[in-house]
Amino acid sequence: MIQRAYLDNNATTPTDPRVVNEMLPYFSEKYGNASSRNHAYGWEAKEAVDHAREQVADLIGANPNEIVFTSGATESNNLALKGLLNEGDHFITCATEHKAILDPAESLNTKGINVDILPVQSDGLLEIKTLKKAISDNTRLVSIMMANNETGCIQPIKELSTITHSNQVLFHTDATQAVGKMPVEVNDLGIDLMSFSSHKMYGPKGIGALYIRKGSKVQPLIEGGGHEQGIRSGTLNVPAIVGFGKACELCKQEMEEEARRINILRDKLEQSLLSIDGAQLNGGIENRLPNVTNIAFSGVDGERLLLSLNGVAVSQGSACTSAVVEPSHVLKSMGIPDQLANSSLRFSLGRFTTEDEIDFTIQKVQQQFTS
Ligand code: PMP
Repeated sequence: MIQRAYLDNNATTPTDPRVVNEMLPYFSEKYGNASSRNHAYGWEAKEAVDHAREQVADLIGANPNEIVFTSGATESNNLALKGLLNEGDHFITCATEHKAILDPAESLNTKGINVDILPVQSDGLLEIKTLKKAISDNTRLVSIMMANNETGCIQPIKELSTITHSNQVLFHTDATQAVGKMPVEVNDLGIDLMSFSSHKMYGPKGIGALYIRKGSKVQPLIEGGGHEQGIRSGTLNVPAIVGFGKACELCKQEMEEEARRINILRDKLEQSLLSIDGAQLNGGIENRLPNVTNIAFSGVDGERLLLSLNGVAVSQGSACTSAVVEPSHVLKSMGIPDQLANSSLRFSLGRFTTEDEIDFTIQKVQQQFTS
Protein backbone atom coordinates (compact mmCIF):
# COMPACT_ATOMS: atom_id res chain seq x y z
CA MET A 1 0.00 0.00 0.00
CA ILE A 2 1.39 3.39 -0.96
CA GLN A 3 1.79 6.13 1.65
CA ARG A 4 1.87 9.23 -0.56
CA ALA A 5 0.02 10.73 -3.48
CA TYR A 6 1.09 13.78 -5.47
CA LEU A 7 -2.00 15.50 -6.85
CA ASP A 8 -0.57 18.99 -7.19
CA ASN A 9 0.67 18.87 -10.78
CA ASN A 10 -0.75 22.32 -11.53
CA ALA A 11 1.67 23.73 -8.95
CA THR A 12 4.57 21.93 -10.57
CA THR A 13 5.33 18.65 -12.31
CA PRO A 14 8.23 16.31 -11.68
CA THR A 15 10.92 16.62 -14.33
CA ASP A 16 10.61 13.64 -16.66
CA PRO A 17 13.75 11.45 -16.34
CA ARG A 18 14.08 11.53 -20.14
CA VAL A 19 14.29 15.32 -19.88
CA VAL A 20 16.91 15.13 -17.13
CA ASN A 21 19.00 12.75 -19.28
CA GLU A 22 18.94 15.16 -22.16
CA MET A 23 20.04 18.03 -19.91
CA LEU A 24 22.92 16.30 -18.11
CA PRO A 25 25.71 16.71 -20.72
CA TYR A 26 25.08 20.46 -20.81
CA PHE A 27 26.32 21.02 -17.25
CA SER A 28 29.90 19.72 -17.18
CA GLU A 29 30.68 18.47 -20.68
CA LYS A 30 29.03 20.77 -23.16
CA TYR A 31 29.13 23.86 -20.96
CA GLY A 32 29.85 26.54 -23.58
CA ASN A 33 28.16 29.91 -23.68
CA ALA A 34 25.67 29.90 -26.56
CA SER A 35 26.84 33.43 -27.41
CA SER A 36 30.52 32.47 -27.79
CA ARG A 37 30.92 32.75 -31.54
CA ASN A 38 34.59 31.93 -31.85
CA HIS A 39 34.94 28.34 -30.71
CA ALA A 40 33.35 24.91 -30.78
CA TYR A 41 32.16 25.09 -27.15
CA GLY A 42 29.97 28.03 -28.06
CA TRP A 43 28.80 26.52 -31.36
CA GLU A 44 27.81 23.30 -29.59
CA ALA A 45 25.72 25.22 -27.03
CA LYS A 46 24.16 27.42 -29.73
CA GLU A 47 23.23 24.33 -31.75
CA ALA A 48 21.52 22.80 -28.70
CA VAL A 49 19.58 26.02 -28.08
CA ASP A 50 18.55 26.23 -31.74
CA HIS A 51 17.28 22.65 -31.61
CA ALA A 52 15.33 23.29 -28.40
CA ARG A 53 13.84 26.44 -29.88
CA GLU A 54 12.57 24.34 -32.79
CA GLN A 55 11.08 21.75 -30.40
CA VAL A 56 9.30 24.48 -28.41
CA ALA A 57 8.03 26.24 -31.53
CA ASP A 58 6.89 22.95 -33.03
CA LEU A 59 4.62 22.15 -30.08
CA ILE A 60 2.65 25.38 -30.58
CA GLY A 61 2.86 25.72 -34.37
CA ALA A 62 5.15 28.76 -34.23
CA ASN A 63 8.27 29.78 -36.09
CA PRO A 64 11.43 29.26 -33.96
CA ASN A 65 12.34 32.96 -34.25
CA GLU A 66 9.03 33.85 -32.59
CA ILE A 67 10.14 32.18 -29.32
CA VAL A 68 11.85 34.25 -26.61
CA PHE A 69 13.22 32.22 -23.70
CA THR A 70 12.50 33.68 -20.25
CA SER A 71 12.73 32.44 -16.65
CA GLY A 72 9.11 31.25 -16.71
CA ALA A 73 5.55 32.35 -17.24
CA THR A 74 5.66 35.07 -14.57
CA GLU A 75 8.42 36.81 -16.49
CA SER A 76 6.75 36.14 -19.85
CA ASN A 77 3.53 37.77 -18.63
CA ASN A 78 5.41 40.76 -17.25
CA LEU A 79 7.34 41.09 -20.52
CA ALA A 80 4.20 40.95 -22.65
CA LEU A 81 2.29 43.52 -20.59
CA LYS A 82 5.07 45.94 -19.65
CA GLY A 83 6.83 45.54 -22.99
CA LEU A 84 3.74 46.55 -24.96
CA LEU A 85 1.73 48.98 -22.87
CA ASN A 86 2.46 52.69 -22.60
CA GLU A 87 0.88 55.57 -20.70
CA GLY A 88 -2.61 56.29 -22.01
CA ASP A 89 -3.13 52.76 -23.38
CA HIS A 90 -6.17 50.71 -22.40
CA PHE A 91 -5.57 47.10 -21.27
CA ILE A 92 -8.23 44.41 -20.79
CA THR A 93 -7.91 41.21 -18.79
CA CYS A 94 -10.25 39.14 -16.61
CA ALA A 95 -10.85 38.45 -12.92
CA THR A 96 -9.76 34.79 -12.88
CA GLU A 97 -6.25 35.44 -14.18
CA HIS A 98 -3.17 34.32 -12.26
CA LYS A 99 -1.47 36.91 -10.04
CA ALA A 100 1.31 36.95 -12.64
CA ILE A 101 -1.12 38.93 -14.82
CA LEU A 102 -3.18 40.74 -12.17
CA ASP A 103 -0.21 42.14 -10.22
CA PRO A 104 1.64 43.63 -13.23
CA ALA A 105 -1.72 44.99 -14.42
CA GLU A 106 -2.20 46.72 -11.08
CA SER A 107 1.27 48.17 -11.22
CA LEU A 108 0.71 49.40 -14.81
CA ASN A 109 -2.50 51.03 -13.64
CA THR A 110 -0.48 53.23 -11.27
CA LYS A 111 1.65 54.30 -14.27
CA GLY A 112 -1.18 55.74 -16.33
CA ILE A 113 -2.39 52.62 -18.14
CA ASN A 114 -6.13 52.22 -18.05
CA VAL A 115 -6.89 48.65 -16.84
CA ASP A 116 -10.22 46.85 -17.18
CA ILE A 117 -10.68 43.56 -15.32
CA LEU A 118 -13.70 41.79 -16.77
CA PRO A 119 -16.04 39.54 -14.75
CA VAL A 120 -16.60 35.87 -15.64
CA GLN A 121 -19.74 33.71 -15.48
CA SER A 122 -20.33 31.06 -12.81
CA ASP A 123 -18.67 28.42 -15.02
CA GLY A 124 -15.52 30.58 -15.10
CA LEU A 125 -15.90 31.56 -18.77
CA LEU A 126 -15.68 35.08 -20.12
CA GLU A 127 -18.62 35.99 -22.33
CA ILE A 128 -17.74 37.23 -25.82
CA LYS A 129 -20.16 40.12 -25.53
CA THR A 130 -18.51 41.28 -22.29
CA LEU A 131 -15.20 41.60 -24.13
CA LYS A 132 -16.85 43.22 -27.14
CA LYS A 133 -18.37 45.94 -24.96
CA ALA A 134 -15.11 46.63 -23.11
CA ILE A 135 -12.94 47.34 -26.18
CA SER A 136 -12.43 51.05 -26.85
CA ASP A 137 -10.41 53.17 -29.29
CA ASN A 138 -7.43 53.20 -26.89
CA THR A 139 -7.38 49.45 -26.25
CA ARG A 140 -3.90 48.18 -27.11
CA LEU A 141 -3.86 44.70 -25.58
CA VAL A 142 -6.29 42.02 -24.39
CA SER A 143 -4.92 39.22 -22.18
CA ILE A 144 -7.11 36.24 -21.34
CA MET A 145 -5.67 33.03 -19.91
CA MET A 146 -6.17 29.82 -21.88
CA ALA A 147 -6.80 27.37 -19.02
CA ASN A 148 -7.31 28.27 -15.40
CA ASN A 149 -4.79 26.91 -12.89
CA GLU A 150 -7.41 26.39 -10.16
CA THR A 151 -10.43 25.05 -12.04
CA GLY A 152 -8.97 23.94 -15.38
CA CYS A 153 -11.64 25.97 -17.15
CA ILE A 154 -10.69 26.64 -20.82
CA GLN A 155 -11.60 30.04 -22.28
CA PRO A 156 -12.95 30.35 -25.85
CA ILE A 157 -9.62 31.72 -27.09
CA LYS A 158 -10.38 31.69 -30.82
CA GLU A 159 -13.64 33.63 -30.40
CA LEU A 160 -11.99 36.10 -28.01
CA SER A 161 -9.02 36.72 -30.33
CA THR A 162 -11.35 37.17 -33.32
CA ILE A 163 -13.20 39.99 -31.53
CA THR A 164 -9.90 41.47 -30.42
CA HIS A 165 -8.45 41.43 -33.94
CA SER A 166 -11.56 42.85 -35.55
CA ASN A 167 -10.78 45.93 -33.43
CA GLN A 168 -7.07 45.94 -34.42
CA VAL A 169 -6.05 45.05 -30.87
CA LEU A 170 -3.30 42.56 -29.91
CA PHE A 171 -4.25 39.33 -28.10
CA HIS A 172 -2.06 37.75 -25.39
CA THR A 173 -2.82 34.55 -23.52
CA ASP A 174 -1.27 33.03 -20.41
CA ALA A 175 -1.26 29.42 -21.57
CA THR A 176 0.90 28.09 -18.73
CA GLN A 177 -1.61 25.41 -17.74
CA ALA A 178 -2.67 24.55 -21.28
CA VAL A 179 0.50 24.00 -23.30
CA GLY A 180 1.50 20.35 -23.11
CA LYS A 181 -1.92 19.26 -21.81
CA MET A 182 -4.06 20.11 -24.82
CA PRO A 183 -3.41 21.00 -28.48
CA VAL A 184 -2.39 24.65 -28.76
CA GLU A 185 -1.78 26.09 -32.22
CA VAL A 186 -1.03 29.82 -32.20
CA ASN A 187 -2.17 30.47 -35.78
CA ASP A 188 -5.43 28.52 -35.50
CA LEU A 189 -6.24 30.29 -32.24
CA GLY A 190 -5.27 33.78 -33.44
CA ILE A 191 -2.74 34.37 -30.68
CA ASP A 192 -0.28 37.29 -30.97
CA LEU A 193 1.60 36.65 -27.73
CA MET A 194 1.60 33.64 -25.44
CA SER A 195 3.28 32.82 -22.12
CA PHE A 196 4.12 29.29 -21.04
CA SER A 197 6.42 27.49 -18.66
CA SER A 198 8.57 24.37 -18.65
CA HIS A 199 7.94 23.18 -15.07
CA LYS A 200 4.22 22.68 -15.70
CA MET A 201 4.98 20.21 -18.48
CA TYR A 202 7.62 17.89 -17.03
CA GLY A 203 10.57 20.17 -17.82
CA PRO A 204 12.88 21.93 -15.36
CA LYS A 205 11.90 24.99 -13.31
CA GLY A 206 13.18 28.49 -14.07
CA ILE A 207 12.68 28.37 -17.82
CA GLY A 208 9.75 29.38 -19.98
CA ALA A 209 8.94 31.30 -23.11
CA LEU A 210 7.04 34.17 -24.57
CA TYR A 211 5.76 33.52 -28.07
CA ILE A 212 5.71 36.82 -29.98
CA ARG A 213 4.07 36.79 -33.41
CA LYS A 214 6.44 38.17 -36.04
CA GLY A 215 5.91 41.91 -36.35
CA SER A 216 4.79 42.65 -32.77
CA LYS A 217 7.21 45.04 -31.10
CA VAL A 218 7.88 44.22 -27.45
CA GLN A 219 10.24 46.43 -25.41
CA PRO A 220 12.70 44.52 -23.18
CA LEU A 221 12.47 44.52 -19.40
CA ILE A 222 16.05 43.30 -19.06
CA GLU A 223 18.77 44.93 -21.15
CA GLY A 224 22.33 43.73 -21.52
CA GLY A 225 24.04 41.67 -24.17
CA GLY A 226 21.18 41.76 -26.66
CA HIS A 227 20.30 38.06 -26.32
CA GLU A 228 16.98 36.76 -27.62
CA GLN A 229 16.80 39.40 -30.37
CA GLY A 230 17.40 42.10 -27.75
CA ILE A 231 14.08 41.30 -26.06
CA ARG A 232 15.54 39.40 -23.10
CA SER A 233 19.23 39.82 -22.35
CA GLY A 234 21.24 37.49 -20.16
CA THR A 235 23.39 34.41 -20.80
CA LEU A 236 21.14 31.59 -21.92
CA ASN A 237 20.53 28.76 -19.45
CA VAL A 238 21.49 26.05 -21.93
CA PRO A 239 20.73 22.93 -19.80
CA ALA A 240 17.28 24.29 -18.88
CA ILE A 241 16.53 25.28 -22.47
CA VAL A 242 17.57 21.81 -23.68
CA GLY A 243 15.28 20.28 -21.05
CA PHE A 244 12.38 22.55 -21.99
CA GLY A 245 12.83 21.57 -25.64
CA LYS A 246 12.81 17.85 -24.81
CA ALA A 247 9.75 18.33 -22.56
CA CYS A 248 7.92 19.96 -25.47
CA GLU A 249 8.87 17.15 -27.83
CA LEU A 250 7.59 14.53 -25.38
CA CYS A 251 4.32 16.41 -24.85
CA LYS A 252 3.79 16.63 -28.57
CA GLN A 253 4.30 12.87 -28.94
CA GLU A 254 2.41 11.71 -25.86
CA MET A 255 -0.16 14.39 -25.02
CA GLU A 256 -3.16 12.82 -26.69
CA GLU A 257 -2.78 9.39 -25.14
CA GLU A 258 -1.72 10.88 -21.81
CA ALA A 259 -4.76 13.18 -21.65
CA ARG A 260 -7.07 10.19 -22.22
CA ARG A 261 -5.49 8.21 -19.40
CA ILE A 262 -5.42 11.14 -16.97
CA ASN A 263 -9.03 12.03 -17.79
CA ILE A 264 -10.21 8.56 -16.76
CA LEU A 265 -8.35 8.79 -13.44
CA ARG A 266 -9.63 12.35 -12.83
CA ASP A 267 -13.21 11.25 -13.46
CA LYS A 268 -12.85 8.31 -11.09
CA LEU A 269 -11.51 10.60 -8.36
CA GLU A 270 -14.12 13.26 -9.03
CA GLN A 271 -17.08 10.89 -9.00
CA SER A 272 -15.98 9.31 -5.74
CA LEU A 273 -15.40 12.65 -4.03
CA LEU A 274 -18.66 14.14 -5.27
CA SER A 275 -20.55 11.26 -3.67
CA ILE A 276 -19.54 12.70 -0.27
CA ASP A 277 -22.41 14.57 1.42
CA GLY A 278 -22.20 18.31 0.72
CA ALA A 279 -19.45 17.99 -1.92
CA GLN A 280 -19.87 20.00 -5.09
CA LEU A 281 -17.82 20.77 -8.19
CA ASN A 282 -16.48 24.30 -8.67
CA GLY A 283 -16.71 25.50 -12.28
CA GLY A 284 -18.31 24.04 -15.40
CA ILE A 285 -17.95 20.39 -16.32
CA GLU A 286 -17.34 21.11 -20.00
CA ASN A 287 -14.47 23.14 -21.48
CA ARG A 288 -11.90 22.16 -18.92
CA LEU A 289 -8.52 20.48 -18.70
CA PRO A 290 -8.53 16.69 -18.31
CA ASN A 291 -6.29 16.70 -15.23
CA VAL A 292 -7.98 18.98 -12.68
CA THR A 293 -10.94 18.89 -10.37
CA ASN A 294 -11.79 21.58 -7.85
CA ILE A 295 -14.26 20.47 -5.20
CA ALA A 296 -16.00 22.34 -2.37
CA PHE A 297 -16.68 20.28 0.75
CA SER A 298 -19.47 22.36 2.19
CA GLY A 299 -19.26 22.98 5.95
CA VAL A 300 -15.63 21.86 6.16
CA ASP A 301 -12.56 24.06 6.65
CA GLY A 302 -10.51 23.38 3.52
CA GLU A 303 -7.19 24.07 5.20
CA ARG A 304 -7.95 21.69 8.04
CA LEU A 305 -9.10 19.03 5.57
CA LEU A 306 -5.96 19.50 3.52
CA LEU A 307 -3.73 19.08 6.57
CA SER A 308 -5.61 16.00 7.71
CA LEU A 309 -5.07 14.22 4.38
CA ASN A 310 -1.81 12.78 5.60
CA GLY A 311 0.43 12.00 2.62
CA VAL A 312 -1.85 13.48 -0.04
CA ALA A 313 -0.41 16.57 -1.74
CA VAL A 314 -3.22 18.77 -3.00
CA SER A 315 -3.73 22.49 -2.86
CA GLN A 316 -6.20 24.99 -1.53
CA GLY A 317 -6.68 27.78 -4.02
CA SER A 318 -3.59 28.61 -6.01
CA ALA A 319 -0.23 27.46 -4.62
CA CYS A 320 1.38 30.78 -5.44
CA THR A 321 -0.82 32.63 -2.96
CA SER A 322 -1.21 29.88 -0.39
CA ALA A 323 1.10 31.71 2.05
CA VAL A 324 -1.85 34.04 2.53
CA VAL A 325 -5.01 32.35 3.78
CA GLU A 326 -7.82 34.08 1.98
CA PRO A 327 -10.56 32.75 -0.28
CA SER A 328 -9.35 32.10 -3.81
CA HIS A 329 -9.94 35.15 -6.01
CA VAL A 330 -10.74 32.77 -8.88
CA LEU A 331 -13.57 31.00 -7.03
CA LYS A 332 -14.82 34.31 -5.60
CA SER A 333 -15.08 35.87 -9.04
CA MET A 334 -17.14 32.88 -10.20
CA GLY A 335 -19.68 33.89 -7.55
CA ILE A 336 -18.76 31.16 -5.07
CA PRO A 337 -19.33 32.42 -1.50
CA ASP A 338 -16.22 32.87 0.70
CA GLN A 339 -17.16 30.04 3.01
CA LEU A 340 -17.53 27.56 0.16
CA ALA A 341 -14.35 28.84 -1.51
CA ASN A 342 -12.51 28.26 1.78
CA SER A 343 -13.78 24.70 1.91
CA SER A 344 -12.49 23.90 -1.58
CA LEU A 345 -9.55 21.78 -2.65
CA ARG A 346 -7.83 21.48 -6.02
CA PHE A 347 -6.69 18.03 -7.14
CA SER A 348 -4.41 18.07 -10.19
CA LEU A 349 -3.13 14.90 -11.84
CA GLY A 350 -0.23 14.38 -14.18
CA ARG A 351 1.88 12.05 -16.31
CA PHE A 352 3.14 10.08 -13.32
CA THR A 353 -0.14 9.81 -11.40
CA THR A 354 -1.07 6.18 -10.76
CA GLU A 355 -4.42 4.55 -10.05
CA ASP A 356 -3.02 3.57 -6.64
CA GLU A 357 -2.53 7.26 -5.83
CA ILE A 358 -6.13 7.97 -6.84
CA ASP A 359 -7.45 5.11 -4.67
CA PHE A 360 -5.27 6.27 -1.76
CA THR A 361 -6.60 9.83 -2.10
CA ILE A 362 -10.24 8.72 -2.28
CA GLN A 363 -9.74 6.62 0.82
CA LYS A 364 -8.01 9.45 2.73
CA VAL A 365 -10.70 12.00 1.90
CA GLN A 366 -13.59 9.63 2.59
CA GLN A 367 -12.04 8.74 5.97
CA GLN A 368 -12.40 12.36 7.06
CA PHE A 369 -16.14 12.20 6.51
CA THR A 370 -16.81 8.83 8.12
CA SER A 371 -14.62 9.02 11.24
N1 PMP B 1 0.32 31.57 -14.97
C1 PMP B 1 -0.35 30.50 -14.56
C2 PMP B 1 -1.73 30.26 -15.08
C3 PMP B 1 0.22 29.62 -13.65
O1 PMP B 1 -0.48 28.54 -13.23
C4 PMP B 1 1.53 29.88 -13.18
C5 PMP B 1 2.19 28.95 -12.17
N2 PMP B 1 1.47 28.79 -10.98
C6 PMP B 1 2.20 31.01 -13.64
C7 PMP B 1 1.56 31.82 -14.55
C8 PMP B 1 3.60 31.32 -13.20
O2 PMP B 1 4.49 30.48 -13.88
P1 PMP B 1 6.03 30.37 -13.49
O3 PMP B 1 6.09 29.53 -12.26
O4 PMP B 1 6.67 29.72 -14.67
O5 PMP B 1 6.55 31.75 -13.28
